[in-house]
Amino acid sequence: MGPDARIGRIEAAAYVIPTDAPEADGTYAWDRTTLVVVDAAGGGRQGIGYTYADASLVPLIQGLLGKAVEGRDALDVPGAWQAMMRAVRNLGRDGLCATAVSAVDAALWDLKAKLLDLPLAALLGTVRREIPIYGSGGFTTYSDDRLREQLGDWVRRDGCRWVKMKIGTDPARDPQRIAAAREAIGPDAGLFIDANGAFGRKQALDFAERVAAEHGGVSWFEEPVSSDDLDGLRLMRDRAPARMDIAAGEYGYDLDYFRRMLAAGAVDVMQADASRCGGVTGFLKVGVLCEAHHVDLSGHCAPALHLHAACAVPRFRHLEWFHDHVRIERMLFDGAPDPRDGAIRPDLSRPGLGLELKRQDAERFAA
Ligand SMILES: [Mg+2]
Repeated sequence: MGPDARIGRIEAAAYVIPTDAPEADGTYAWDRTTLVVVDAAGGGRQGIGYTYADASLVPLIQGLLGKAVEGRDALDVPGAWQAMMRAVRNLGRDGLCATAVSAVDAALWDLKAKLLDLPLAALLGTVRREIPIYGSGGFTTYSDDRLREQLGDWVRRDGCRWVKMKIGTDPARDPQRIAAAREAIGPDAGLFIDANGAFGRKQALDFAERVAAEHGGVSWFEEPVSSDDLDGLRLMRDRAPARMDIAAGEYGYDLDYFRRMLAAGAVDVMQADASRCGGVTGFLKVGVLCEAHHVDLSGHCAPALHLHAACAVPRFRHLEWFHDHVRIERMLFDGAPDPRDGAIRPDLSRPGLGLELKRQDAERFAA
């Protein structure tokens, strides 16, 4: 039956990492990113998980969530997940609580895989062993030169077949920015745009029609309207040009969110973020839901966290190679993936997620 191991102490730490330049999208601006790392002890091993959220998660993880899972069988991760969900019922499961549960869940899957001495992908069982990535950044704060350089590098240096840029901060300037991006990536790469919900319905529709006709086309329009406006997303899906996918889902924290979005026929491609939607356990559930609705799933951000789980999801399309998170994961995790020919692959010689926090390097960012 495998090793007899109990979940031991759950510990968490937050690190605040400045961005390499001011960043913004259509509805938000930021100059730092907070990484919350969880350590889960058990059976003489240490599992690691993380989320990108807020330092206020640390006492929640070490207190309420730790109490919910410590002493449980380390191999029964879904049981631990359920215990955590029950524990946060009266706090509100969504938002911060879901990100905290996600980080602990990832650490528990990492721990289980290490106890069994398996890479997590092998423990979950794979349908593929490499994950296509798309380069993602192109912030609205960037100069056109920086935009061209970043997007062009992902295509030429990393072999990405698609890249994504932010729009919506100054819509009058976006057509020119999109033209610059197209020029930089060439005619063959797919160009994705993300408005982060900045537009109203008619404005988004008008924008979609215009960019489809110019600049070699746009094949993905993410959150053209608010992701809470399911009717608006459905309108976009029905009326946007046929070669343009409508995508949303990054703010999904629970399974019902994804069910409602799928039931409304709101997206051509669902997005989900394992660092928000309940960790590896939650992400796999979203994968099943998407399969039942015949909709592809795309992973949102935190590429090193998604890599192994993505290998286990049947209708997985691609993973977001998000500039901020790629930079942080390379800086602070041993074993962070490197792209080759537009894809990343789990290192099957390392157990678990294959990641180790570079604790000394992380210390200078401690919150
Ligand atoms: Mg987005």
